[in-house]
Amino acid sequence: MFDRLKKVFSDFISTVTGKISEKDIEEFFKEREIDFIEADVSIDVIEYFKQKLIEEVKNVKSNGAKSETLKELLAKAITGIFQETETLPDIYSRSSRKPFVTVFLGINGTGKTTTVAKVAYSLKKMKLKPLMVAADTYRTGAIEQLTEHGSRIGVEVYSKKYGADPAALSREAYEYAQANGYEILLIDTAGRMQTNESLLNELAKLVNVVKSDLNVFVGDALAGYDMINQATTFLQNPGFSHSIVTKVDAEVKGGSILNLAFYTKKPIMYLGTGQNYEDLTPFKPSWVVERLLG
Ligand code: GDP
Repeated sequence: MFDRLKKVFSDFISTVTGKISEKDIEEFFKEREIDFIEADVSIDVIEYFKQKLIEEVKNVKSNGAKSETLKELLAKAITGIFQETETLPDIYSRSSRKPFVTVFLGINGTGKTTTVAKVAYSLKKMKLKPLMVAADTYRTGAIEQLTEHGSRIGVEVYSKKYGADPAALSREAYEYAQANGYEILLIDTAGRMQTNESLLNELAKLVNVVKSDLNVFVGDALAGYDMINQATTFLQNPGFSHSIVTKVDAEVKGGSILNLAFYTKKPIMYLGTGQNYEDLTPFKPSWVVERLLG
């Protein structure tokens, strides 16, 4: 995992140890740009690293460019891409609203439904009372899929027939949750291409109707550069404040996680690390630092 990017960073350290200067950094990034690009790191993020290191190097000169110092600089640059992070229970604990409404957004196949179940499972383990809502009333099998997860993890699912209006259904689910003492509503929405404007507007309607407390974008680490497109479109409409990155257990290159944090400036909440319900890890920038510089 992250092998190529890890190699670039370790080569950076060995190349510039003992002779670091602005020119050395410029040259290194020019020569190795293709490696960054092949690891899915966008041009803007490459530029960010370059400028950040040039800036930091000014403070290093007097101490000499030891490899440990360079590693620290790189760690600082990587960490600087990410926002302060928090989990769903952290955010819920600050809210006075019950049920607390969370809407999951993302295109089909990213692992959205599985992630909703993973989150529900972790909340249940914390003795909280979640209700999952099957608001994807379009895709054949979507309702059954969530219902199946629900029965496996012992969390109730609110659902209606295919074709039901997702916004009205979610509002009904909210009232049902309120009447029955559920604490957190987890709404699984239909996966939609970020290019489909009318479907995105419908999603915005749902968010409005339920007065969502938290919109979470679910992105697939394997999506590569397309993650930027997906995330920035959902960020505009209906908007989100946190992300979850799935499938980081697969052989990922790393760039998509850096790009997501860089372009959205929103914290990543969790990482999906497998297909089991336990495979959801609260995100920490140090997780990326360890994999890139470890
Ligand atoms: P949705 O269409 O976005 O709701 O996606 P699903 O939840 O149906 O997931 C699509 C596929 O991705 C399923 O086979 C899931 O088991 C798989 N999946 C979801 N999250 C992860 C993850 O973190 N790691 C791996 N390896 N597979 C995942």
